[in-house]
Amino acid sequence: MKLLLFDIDGTLIMTHGVGMRGLKEAMREMVGTSQIRDLFSFAGLTDQVIAERILLQLGKSQEEATALVPELFRRYLVYLRRFLAEADHLEVLPGVRELLSRLEVDPEFGLALGTGNIEQGARLKLEQVDLNRYFPVGGFGSDARQRSELLQVGVDRARKHYQTHFSRVWVVGDTPHDIRAGREIGASVLAVASGFASRESLAAEQPDLLLDNLVDVEGVVAALE
Ligand SMILES: [Mg+2]
Repeated sequence: MKLLLFDIDGTLIMTHGVGMRGLKEAMREMVGTSQIRDLFSFAGLTDQVIAERILLQLGKSQEEATALVPELFRRYLVYLRRFLAEADHLEVLPGVRELLSRLEVDPEFGLALGTGNIEQGARLKLEQVDLNRYFPVGGFGSDARQRSELLQVGVDRARKHYQTHFSRVWVVGDTPHDIRAGREIGASVLAVASGFASRESLAAEQPDLLLDNLVDVEGVVAALE
């Protein structure tokens, strides 16, 4: 059996800012401002790292930031749930539903998540578009600050869940962070240019496979074999 670890934002779905809006509201409540300077892209980073970086930008010390994060996430989840329910522009990316349905019934493949979202946030987002059922387990931003570590947690949980050793592990993601983290755990990487990074920036990281989207379901499955 091969294991596929899927990233969420930019790979499976686009929330078009709902997640960041939730974080900003929580931030405004806690520190009185939601002025977040867009100095770098948060895409591909874990929620923990994103939250700490924003708090540092707002003048908090690293110690203060680390202490604020648990309460920040508690509030973030309240807003995320509300904003997701209100959102009329959540998008499941092209080919995703078809590919997951195809893989789900194929005994050659096991499915799991490998995402920087904290677990409850990940599950809220996927619940809203009915994709949770494909992913019995995963590694999440609530498991580790570094992406490679949470991917490894995902592999370990999947091994227990599927009761098998995987002949190959694929990481499926949309940013250079996914590619590098996948490499670090010895996985193969399928990069999809459907999200937050350009095809060129993904190509520069030399993923094993680089696609514009997941529309060609049988082509994707064949390439993963
Ligand atoms: Mg992503």
